[in-house]
Amino acid sequence: MTKTYKNLINGKWIDAKSGKTFENRNPADWDDILSTFPLSDKTDVDEAVRSARAAFEKWRLVPAPSRGNILRKVGDMMSARKEDLARTMTKEMGKVLLETRGDVQEGIDTAYYAAAEGRRLFGHTVPSELPNKFNMALRMPIGVAGIITPWNFPMAIPTWKIFPALLCGNTVVFKPASDTPETATRLVEILIEAGVPDGVINIVHGGGSAVGTAIVEHPEVDLISFTGSSSVGKKISEAAAKTLKRVSLELGGKNAQIVMDDAKLDLALEGVLWGAFGTTGQRCTATSRLIVHEKVYDKFLSMLAESTKKLRLGDGLNETTDVGPLVNEGQVRTVDQYVKIGIAEGEKILVGGKRAGGDGLAKGWFYEPTILGDVRPQMRVAVEEIFGPVLSVIKVKSIEEAITVANATRYGLSSAVYTQDINNAYQAIRDIKAGITYINAPTIGAEAHMPFGGVKETGNGHREGGWTVYEFFSEWKTVYVDYSGRLQRAQIDT
Ligand code: NAD
Repeated sequence: MTKTYKNLINGKWIDAKSGKTFENRNPADWDDILSTFPLSDKTDVDEAVRSARAAFEKWRLVPAPSRGNILRKVGDMMSARKEDLARTMTKEMGKVLLETRGDVQEGIDTAYYAAAEGRRLFGHTVPSELPNKFNMALRMPIGVAGIITPWNFPMAIPTWKIFPALLCGNTVVFKPASDTPETATRLVEILIEAGVPDGVINIVHGGGSAVGTAIVEHPEVDLISFTGSSSVGKKISEAAAKTLKRVSLELGGKNAQIVMDDAKLDLALEGVLWGAFGTTGQRCTATSRLIVHEKVYDKFLSMLAESTKKLRLGDGLNETTDVGPLVNEGQVRTVDQYVKIGIAEGEKILVGGKRAGGDGLAKGWFYEPTILGDVRPQMRVAVEEIFGPVLSVIKVKSIEEAITVANATRYGLSSAVYTQDINNAYQAIRDIKAGITYINAPTIGAEAHMPFGGVKETGNGHREGGWTVYEFFSEWKTVYVDYSGRLQRAQIDT
């Protein structure tokens, strides 16, 4: 039976003021309506922000270790419900169970990291330039955090943002992607059960232009943490500038895997299959370009084509499926358009290149894993984010040329280099313009305790993950304590 969900505002589950709803469908079977959610608008956002603003005054005074204890409980509850959460996620966005289990695990790791951070949140003590004076800098909560997330990591990405936001003493208004509202709701239910007080976490469901824009423009929202496309990121940056909000943007990618002539080809093959077709290519860190040294190009491509043809498409709930459906019809259209652009640009389709049909696939958003060969580096399929199971392969003559090609996009999130030559590896680490470089590992595989983010149009310089995200969600307070009993003038009496 179709379940009806609500928004959570000030500790109460309520419908959108308008009474409108939207459907959440299974991308592996579009006739399968999983649940309905409130189609909210600015009125609902206003109420959620009021609730978060009021709750902030108490939450900021809760000691950080106590806030951490709640998040530890959240981690425990997520561990206990891991399988159920993974299945919910697979049903609403399609990726295979192996990966949705990993998505939940990333949330669990993030919860335990946040719990421990409650006993750190280190500040600095620094000598004063004047006698009998003490200087320190402390981390303070900021206020109401607007959290806007995409559908491709429906659990991990919200936890990357919400847990550090709460740990630092902020309150949250959360708008998840409308393709994955159920996983987001499950997360919020856990936060409430674990003891997050009323108003500290609020969830408002609905579309980006109505709910997202209302959060970004709201004068009482102090900071925005957004993950999504570069085009929406730019709009958010412009809108948030009007109220001078602090904004963290994690945006698109066009990640390359380089395979040098000295690489272990079997290892590089496993890497590119996982990097390009995992999550059906819908990862911000997906490998969408393969840059191969000319000496191994033909051999590696025939190995790759053979393995790609063997990948099994299907419902992600089936344990034997390698590649699930795309998330929705729009995504299928985008992928198909790019394949057509590739053909018009003169690229060679080596594998795939069309919507998949056949047993169990007829009513889902399935697309064949696709490889475009002999792609020239400046072509659209080589520089624009496709966000689907499409890999563009480019031939190069040297590590220098490989790095130049890898850098020839407006994105800079992840990168991978397969080589046995330490000189190639270090040159790549130094010269590839990306937030992340893997050596002998695929472009995907972020660990929760490491900084995550990119350069160029992939972001605006902030990092999620690890210790770095706590910089974003807290504000420095500088404190001078003068115990000399007299006026001391910095720069003058020194
Ligand atoms: P999207 O930009 O369409 O939407 C992201 C979120 O923003 C959704 O919740 C959406 O409803 C909301 N939104 C849309 N328009 C808005 C507006 N005008 N104002 C405020 N909010 C708005 O992205 P998507 O299709 O959900 O996700 C795919 C994109 O996300 C890809 O470009 C991918 O590379 C990127 N992504 C980046 C990272 C990263 O960490 N760099 C991680 C995952 C996904």
